[in-house]
Amino acid sequence: MPSGLSGLRFGRQEPSTHQHSWKISPTILAPASSREEEVRIPDSEIFRGISIPPGHTPRALDASDTGKVDLLYPSTNHLAMHLCLIECFYKLRNDVTNSKELDAVIGPTVPHFVSAENTQNSQTHPTAADADIVRTSQIKKWELFVKAAVGRFNVWWQNIDKVIRHAKAYNTIPAAAQQDTSTLSKNYLPPLDVLLVWYSYILHPSYSSDCVEFGKQNAFMLCFPWHALYEVIDQKTLVYNLPTAAANMFTTMSSQAVDLISCLSSPPPYTASIGAQCSIDLEDAVAMQDSFVNDTHQLLWLRSPACSGSLTRCMERYKRFLLLVHLHPDRRAGLVPTWDIELALRTHQLYADKFHTFASRPFGRELDYAKVPRPLETEKSTANTTTETNTADLWKRQFAEPYTCCLCWACECIKDASGGSEVEVSTSNLSQKHIKEIQKALQFYASVERARESGDRLPTSPRQAKKKDDKWELDWGHGWREVVVKGKFDEHGNPVKKVVREKAYTSHINWMMGAT
Ligand SMILES: [Zn+2]
Repeated sequence: MPSGLSGLRFGRQEPSTHQHSWKISPTILAPASSREEEVRIPDSEIFRGISIPPGHTPRALDASDTGKVDLLYPSTNHLAMHLCLIECFYKLRNDVTNSKELDAVIGPTVPHFVSAENTQNSQTHPTAADADIVRTSQIKKWELFVKAAVGRFNVWWQNIDKVIRHAKAYNTIPAAAQQDTSTLSKNYLPPLDVLLVWYSYILHPSYSSDCVEFGKQNAFMLCFPWHALYEVIDQKTLVYNLPTAAANMFTTMSSQAVDLISCLSSPPPYTASIGAQCSIDLEDAVAMQDSFVNDTHQLLWLRSPACSGSLTRCMERYKRFLLLVHLHPDRRAGLVPTWDIELALRTHQLYADKFHTFASRPFGRELDYAKVPRPLETEKSTANTTTETNTADLWKRQFAEPYTCCLCWACECIKDASGGSEVEVSTSNLSQKHIKEIQKALQFYASVERARESGDRLPTSPRQAKKKDDKWELDWGHGWREVVVKGKFDEHGNPVKKVVREKAYTSHINWMMGAT
């Protein structure tokens, strides 16, 4: 990846007209005059409506139409927030592995060149051995950090019922709306390191049985706090701003500061020796996230010009994958998700209770196999299907499309332009003007990302015209929303908000707990 920028996959051996051969390199753009005018990537519109859907019993799956796969959760805004969270995890790991404060904690393994200020001498170039030492030191720092994070998670997890009770008791939301409380509001979030452990734990196959065994049913019911994360994560800097109330709660509970790096670097770190209420090695569970986090960062859909279209296609493909799972119950274990399908699958799993309900529905009898479209069946009517264990083969047979395709920014933009139904990702059906537009967008987004990574002021949006008062309030559920109370401010000078009912009350409304 010579461009060095995530998301772009240029320089592959492709024909010269292929999108992977395009020459797109980030340039320096004129910065906006203020932070408010900076372009927002992704557009906040992509998170609109991020809320927890009402509880419902999913319909039986109709195998003839993936459009009818009955999914109220997740939707593309949850996926977008998930991408954002993963970037936060990626940044956290970078902060830890590059932390000078932790160098002192793990001992003297850092070679000279790292601290050498004077680099005029050519001998200061790192050797392979130096690079190894740095790598080892980075691994040690991350292991130390995760070990401590697991300790902190155990304290939080032991108190999770208290957190949930507290959130319910201090809930200022209208009582009528509290029926199916199902997620935490920002004032009840844990620090990011603890959240990473919880995230990894929920995605572990033992989470569900552990919650039963250790009496964590209330926690099991929770949806991952997407709405709260939307409120606390700075989209540009990816800083996780834990509200004071949440920080105080964690400090009271654990006797530890919120920032784990400074906790570890000011010895002796407090280590609570409590019995863990889980059956698995949580350090391993966190390590299992590494490759997905890396892949997500490499593709960087979050900052891509095609983000919205990509996530819509992602949900469509996920529904097809679910269909495949239910059509081939005997091969479930062998079906391997691609990265995009895994993103949706993980997001679904992060609402453990709903995922469990969805996944354990009885399907067999409802499926009408006669209605299932199998376009390629005629071609290989005599094929021995029992030998086809490969996901790609099953997919192709079912949907007459290739299972895997390139997910880079350029290919995703082309899918957007060609209506998303192209089997082959190719520019051959696009006009020169259209191709130029795509290249221009890629150039702009790549340049903005380069500026963002460097901490520079971003440019203004190229389509600036509108937007001035394009504020929207988060949709808090079906028929309820949060609005600003005019002229009222809290002690920090932030406008006071209240939750109002917009439409007639329906019986199933899920609320975040403890929202103020
Ligand atoms: Zn591509």
